[in-house]
Amino acid sequence: MTPAEDDELRRVLEGSVGRRGSERTTTLGAGGFDLDAGRGYLAATRPGGFGVPSWPRHLGGRDADPDEAAHIKAFQADFAIPDLYPYRVGMRMVGPTLLEHGTTDQQWRWMPAIAAGDAIWCQMFSEPEAGSDLANVSTSARRDGDLWSLDGQKVWTSRAEYATWGICLARTAPEAPKHRGLTMFAVRMDAPGIDVRPLTQINGDAHFSEVFLTAATVPDTDRIGDVGGGWRVATALLAHERAGADRSAPKVGPSAWPTWLDDLVQAGLSSDRVLRDRAMALYCLDEAIRFTELRALANEQAGRQPGPEGSGMKLHGARSFKLRSELLAAGAGAAAMLTDWHGHVDFLTAPSMSIRGGTDEIQRNILGERVLGLPGEPRVDRDVPWSVSRRGARPS
Ligand SMILES: Cc1cc2nc3c(=O)[nH]c(=O)nc-3n(C[C@H](O)[C@H](O)[C@H](O)COP(=O)(O)OP(=O)(O)OC[C@H]3O[C@@H](n4cnc5c(N)ncnc54)[C@H](O)[C@@H]3O)c2cc1C
Repeated sequence: MTPAEDDELRRVLEGSVGRRGSERTTTLGAGGFDLDAGRGYLAATRPGGFGVPSWPRHLGGRDADPDEAAHIKAFQADFAIPDLYPYRVGMRMVGPTLLEHGTTDQQWRWMPAIAAGDAIWCQMFSEPEAGSDLANVSTSARRDGDLWSLDGQKVWTSRAEYATWGICLARTAPEAPKHRGLTMFAVRMDAPGIDVRPLTQINGDAHFSEVFLTAATVPDTDRIGDVGGGWRVATALLAHERAGADRSAPKVGPSAWPTWLDDLVQAGLSSDRVLRDRAMALYCLDEAIRFTELRALANEQAGRQPGPEGSGMKLHGARSFKLRSELLAAGAGAAAMLTDWHGHVDFLTAPSMSIRGGTDEIQRNILGERVLGLPGEPRVDRDVPWSVSRRGARPS
């Protein structure tokens, strides 16, 4: 960026969020969700396209190449950027997926609103019998002219309670093998026939919900990708999710001193040798993640879509979160059990990191098969019509 553009970004950030101080932001919304802070930040960054810099300018970005996007991210490290958890599905998953699979009309209709913080998206993939085995989705979509009618149940749908739109995987051809009978839709969350019931998590949050769909109507213009092409769209979105999808903006830069290290130092524990040793191991893991992100960035610069390296980042990112929360809990001692201690929510959130976005075991399967070239899992139902295959724990 030119010095003038740096000045513009500095002005926008100083005017909207201000310099980073000692205040804490939540991580992945754990402990509460603040829609306004993220919306204010995105509205302020929208004119310069700084919120989603790598998106095309006409859709809310600034056509930034990966180097420029990384520069913007590094620049932001000095500012109190809010936790953008509520906006994450739209910014990091739906937007990039629409660039690959959406129509021009869909990109125009949905992406600028995401960039400006005006629309929040949720991801309606998982069902009671379709989590790791996502291709087993049984929510049905039946076509009637230009409309589709959706029936079924989703579960663990984060952000559903306050989302405007849901990206929803549904079955359109039960007689086809399970991966081939799926289609992706965008569903308005306030449409008749959509019933959202929040669930409470161990950390006290109620971020995810059950979503019941009963004859929910979706126009064909809100179908994303081909009829029967839903699995392709789903895997593209999941690759963006696992890669953190912000590959153009490595999280850990040399200038970014981790705040968890500050916490340890402030607690006076920097002289504890055991904790220092654990902190160093964690720091090394985070550096390994950063280098993997840089490799993914180089991949993107070469024009390739995110691949299985995202599973490596997802796996190690979950491990890093857990190690960090355990380390801080060890440092805090008995205080770690107090609910008003700031690490308490993160500690209770940590186990979910190995489940959300695909479990550790599934990431290892992907790495084993697609990176290491190990023999694949037995997949006996791959070529069998979904309607006659054995599903979940029950025979169909
Ligand atoms: C905090 C949180 C937020 C979430 N948000 C969303 C969301 O917004 N949208 C959404 O669609 N979903 C969401 N999910 C759901 C999440 O994607 C699923 O929970 C996850 O994919 C696992 O599916 P499952 O819970 O059905 O477990 P299962 O698939 O039933 O797995 C149970 C256990 O069996 C193991 N297992 C299963 N298959 C294999 C295999 N082939 N090889 C080895 N081990 C295996 C798993 O690793 C796991 O340990 C969220 C989950 C959490 C915890």
